[in-house]
Amino acid sequence: MKAVVYEGVGSVAVREVPDATVETPSDAVVRVTTAAICGSDLHFFHGKAPLYPGDTIGHEAVGVVESLGADVSRFSVGQRVVVAFDIACGTCWFCERGQTQLCEDFANLGAGMFGGGLGGAQAELVRVPHADFNLLAVPEGMEDERAIFVGDVLTTGYYGASIAGIREGDTVAVVGAGPVGYLCARSAVMRGAAEVVVLDREAERLALVTGASPAIVAVNVDERNPHMALSEATSGRGADVAIEAAGNPDAFDTALDVVRRGGIVCVVGMFSGEQVEAPLGVWWARALDIRFAGICPVHAWWEETMDHVEAGRIDPTPLISHTLSLDEAVLGYELFSSRRATKVLLKP
Ligand code: ZN
Ligand code: ZN
Repeated sequence: MKAVVYEGVGSVAVREVPDATVETPSDAVVRVTTAAICGSDLHFFHGKAPLYPGDTIGHEAVGVVESLGADVSRFSVGQRVVVAFDIACGTCWFCERGQTQLCEDFANLGAGMFGGGLGGAQAELVRVPHADFNLLAVPEGMEDERAIFVGDVLTTGYYGASIAGIREGDTVAVVGAGPVGYLCARSAVMRGAAEVVVLDREAERLALVTGASPAIVAVNVDERNPHMALSEATSGRGADVAIEAAGNPDAFDTALDVVRRGGIVCVVGMFSGEQVEAPLGVWWARALDIRFAGICPVHAWWEETMDHVEAGRIDPTPLISHTLSLDEAVLGYELFSSRRATKVLLKP
């Protein structure tokens, strides 16, 4: 089968690799019809997370069940499914409490040895362990282009907005207008926010997110001070809730800067080795509630997001900037890593 293979920092290629096969009774093999390149694939691409040359990559996919292990009971061959970007067992203490990102047997597709050694989803076939738990049926008639977002970014954005403590009528700041920021902002409106102010420095991303709802306002932080912008929007108080959706210390600082005293900062962006100073007295005196989303426990939320997508309450498709063949994956990585693409889909 063909798959996107990591070759070294800044380099991927499409190569022939051994077919994915059923290896344990709980596995499914999915024939991928649409895969996507994600921001977290770029962590590997840029060498910020380890992959070995020859490892396959990718964790966002929709496809058709090709073959099943003997223990898989909820799916049948030929069924259309979306794959969970994080692979959990479904039965441990954490999984039973819906914190599937903390699973005892946690793994990631296409994340090399440290992700559990599973193959990547940017491929013709992908093996999915614990398939009964890590696959979700795609509703009849729903296009791949919509369903694929439920396996990762849409559910991540929806989860981020859902745990951020948004109340009816709140003013919410979202720091970062990438795909997750876009979907956090859109979901914040669904969660009752009266106004959502999205902060970024890229005009195109900001223009895209304002198109998602009339309640969403964009602020280019190169042109306008974010603290002032949120102050003006809230009679001087600041945002009730600030969602960090960029995964960098500057964005975290901005979230703390724009939130009102007594407000909530919800960190959705992905962090790894970054460090910040923690002025505990300031945070304590401001009575801030700072919460960390962690990796999205996609299994606990994806049925709900799938319902919203199916009912047309949320539409992730404006995020798609490029649809390429799997053979053009190298171009896809170039476009995405140079920020000329918002979301790249790959068709094997
Ligand atoms: Zn992803
Ligand atoms: Zn588990």
